[in-house]
Amino acid sequence: MTCLKPEAAAPADTGPGGADFNPFAVMQPRRPDAIPRDFRNGGRVKAADVAPAGVYLPNNNKMTPAMRSPDYVQMSTAAAITLGIMPGMLYRCACTRCLNLLLTYPEGCRANCAYCGLARHREAERDYADRNFIRVDWPAVPMAEIVEKVAADGEDTPFHRMCISMITHPRSDDDTVTVLKQWTDRIDPATVPVSILSNPTTMQRSDVETLKDLGADIFTVALDAATPEIFDRTRGKGVDSPHSWKKYWEILMDARDVFGPQKFGAHIIVGMGETEADVLRLVQELVDLGGHSHMFCFFPEKGSLMDHLPATPRDQWRRVQLARYLIDYCDVRVERMAFDEEGRVTDFGLPRAELDAIVDAGIAFRTSGCPGKFQEDISACDRPYGDSPPSNIASYPFQPAGADIRRIRHQLDMEKPGEAYEPGEEFDDPDDGSDDDQAASATAEARAV
Ligand code: SF4
Repeated sequence: MTCLKPEAAAPADTGPGGADFNPFAVMQPRRPDAIPRDFRNGGRVKAADVAPAGVYLPNNNKMTPAMRSPDYVQMSTAAAITLGIMPGMLYRCACTRCLNLLLTYPEGCRANCAYCGLARHREAERDYADRNFIRVDWPAVPMAEIVEKVAADGEDTPFHRMCISMITHPRSDDDTVTVLKQWTDRIDPATVPVSILSNPTTMQRSDVETLKDLGADIFTVALDAATPEIFDRTRGKGVDSPHSWKKYWEILMDARDVFGPQKFGAHIIVGMGETEADVLRLVQELVDLGGHSHMFCFFPEKGSLMDHLPATPRDQWRRVQLARYLIDYCDVRVERMAFDEEGRVTDFGLPRAELDAIVDAGIAFRTSGCPGKFQEDISACDRPYGDSPPSNIASYPFQPAGADIRRIRHQLDMEKPGEAYEPGEEFDDPDDGSDDDQAASATAEARAV
């Protein structure tokens, strides 16, 4: 198993019509097709009625077993490799630091988000446990086996955090509680803290309180869309999906009250038609509320309702990554930044020397998410190659250095004199950035400027 897989849609250097961003008018999802009656609600799986039998690797069996949470959960390929459940290697990463778990049901997720490989409309072509999600397959594993393995490692566990991702299903609120209890019964949350990636559509404030009482550390809401219009057309009425912007914000505000400052956040996907100004104002709003933003670069997931659309051009993504880092961790306010008539960042609101130091430190370009044990601004949730192929990395799951930084500077149009990026040079002599102490000292230097 490898993270190097054939790519259906490699990200281009520029967007539609040569633009360096994905405009709203272009990023229109297609409508979902009707699902044959026999295929709805996991119809094929239920008809087959095959008993579950241990670890299930997507596409390896002819028949999808009838697995469901809380007994089973799915986990990312990176987590399965790290746990030794699947063989494989991760390009320039020794392991992942976050054990990402996903509730699983034969009926699948009942929502229909346009960018998501797990969406309901895919019932017509693939059973739930075989669907790809953020570019990779998610094997299904008995929860008891996962707990046993992580508990056996004790303090030596490679994981800095565990995350339970809910999906839209009538059982997901109760089963999240059961999975969390199963974990905290055996594993000290101080050793591996737990994050909840929530599903606000089925939740009430009391559910948020219950998860906090049971030991969850951080609560996040996957807004995903940066504006109400994009939310509605990608995960609401526009695609026959049940989510609403209002309900997501209601639960986000509950999380702020219940979990408190720095312990809640929102996921945002960049490049679905919002402007850079839109997304950065949202980042500022989250910071002002006391929370964080966790960014994903839009990638046209195969089989999704947006798989015909362009991945986010790297220039747009890098500008937003850098500006988001400045707002989240460097006390730069969005009001200090300048934008052009298309909403693109033209001034990051910092003197060039300070900006150069932050770019060179590279942390801004790593995967963003809930923190691990290295430092606050280094995410445990590194999601290796979840939003790009290794050949054209969007979120770095390792510390970028050397040629990586030259490439990032090239994408930002911030190359230093005499340090031009040579295409492909990072593959000739990769500077393995797995040393997070190096990252820590680089950040310290950047902040000292
Ligand atoms: S609710 Fe989450 S898992 Fe379900 S379709 Fe939307 S993004 Fe995918």
